[in-house]
Amino acid sequence: MREIETIVVGGGPAGSTCARRLRQHGRDVVVLDKATFPRLKLCAGWITEKVLRDLEIAPGDYPHPMLPLDIRSHLRGLPFGLRWFPTPGKNFSIRRVEFDAWLLARSGAEVIRHDVRSIRRDGDRWIVDDAYACRWLIGAGGTMCPVRRAVFPNQRPKSRQIVTLEKEFSYPAREDACRLYFKRGLVGYAWVVPKGDGHVNIGLGAKAKYLRKSGTDIHAHFRAFVDDLVAEGRLDAATAAGLNETGHPYYLFTRDGAVRADHCLLIGDSAGLATMDLGEGIGPAVESGLMAADEILGRGTWDKAKVTLFSLAGVAQRLMRVANRRHLPAA
Ligand SMILES: Cc1cc2nc3c(=O)[nH]c(=O)nc-3n(C[C@H](O)[C@H](O)[C@H](O)COP(=O)(O)OP(=O)(O)OC[C@H]3O[C@@H](n4cnc5c(N)ncnc54)[C@H](O)[C@@H]3O)c2cc1C
Repeated sequence: MREIETIVVGGGPAGSTCARRLRQHGRDVVVLDKATFPRLKLCAGWITEKVLRDLEIAPGDYPHPMLPLDIRSHLRGLPFGLRWFPTPGKNFSIRRVEFDAWLLARSGAEVIRHDVRSIRRDGDRWIVDDAYACRWLIGAGGTMCPVRRAVFPNQRPKSRQIVTLEKEFSYPAREDACRLYFKRGLVGYAWVVPKGDGHVNIGLGAKAKYLRKSGTDIHAHFRAFVDDLVAEGRLDAATAAGLNETGHPYYLFTRDGAVRADHCLLIGDSAGLATMDLGEGIGPAVESGLMAADEILGRGTWDKAKVTLFSLAGVAQRLMRVANRRHLPAA
């Protein structure tokens, strides 16, 4: 059995950020991920200025395209898009397939391809699949995290099931504006996110509960959205006809679940940290990865109350707080 100080399960933004900070302090850390990187991750790939600051990515550091986003919001009832997207800072797009692989390689941690199945406690160590033993175990395996399932088996945090569909494809004829549609008969939103290298990501997400109530199918919404883009001249009909979108149910957990057990911390999506308004999860994943590492280093405490809760700012955030009040963590 291999002995390691810290095992991080999951090499997405949460896991790689935590691993990087531990490596920066010379600590012994291994990342286990069931995927081989670069790996596909369903995501529009929108990141904020704060994410770049937290990750210490200076202009020119990132070797792949990163596009500053000029965002237009298409609101219910308005026939045109507004240059109005009330976030606290600048916004950018990246491709997750490139971003996550680069972050993980940059972490300097050893990465082992391993699908984690079983986890048990043995004295003061965590044992993973009877192959690895560690003092600290970090659950960063996303919404289906095996650490969450094994270490917190009775935890039933409230969750809102979101159904998402998306497609990322090469589309050099794109325009450079990012568009968010809050008006398509969906309880959710749809997006068009251009990338810096001629790719574009289009998709939508909706609350499963409301889809079930309306009796409509998410694919029908996706097709209607694509048809609208064709009608608006943003997508050509031949490309639209050839798109086969992919998707999956995605759980946005509320933040009332436990995120710590004895020397075990949950971070990122496994801790239910995506923002309550837009489901932006990369920033919260990074923030939690840094705090978890600091706890292991004895420099701080992982405190989920300190993680960004809403993406929107100002009046829009206040409206979102009201809309999401049932899911807000207890004060
Ligand atoms: C359609 C869609 C669009 C989104 N768009 C955005 C966006 O534009 N901006 C934004 O900020 N957020 C967005 N999000 C949310 C964002 O993708 C997540 O919040 C973010 O990826 C969370 O990072 P993470 O590191 O916690 O988990 P993940 O990125 O999911 O990484 C988890 C890792 O764990 C690994 N893993 C899982 N199970 C095991 C196992 N058994 N053994 C070993 N490894 C395992 C996986 O292979 C994966 O690499 C979107 C989500 C969806 C579904």
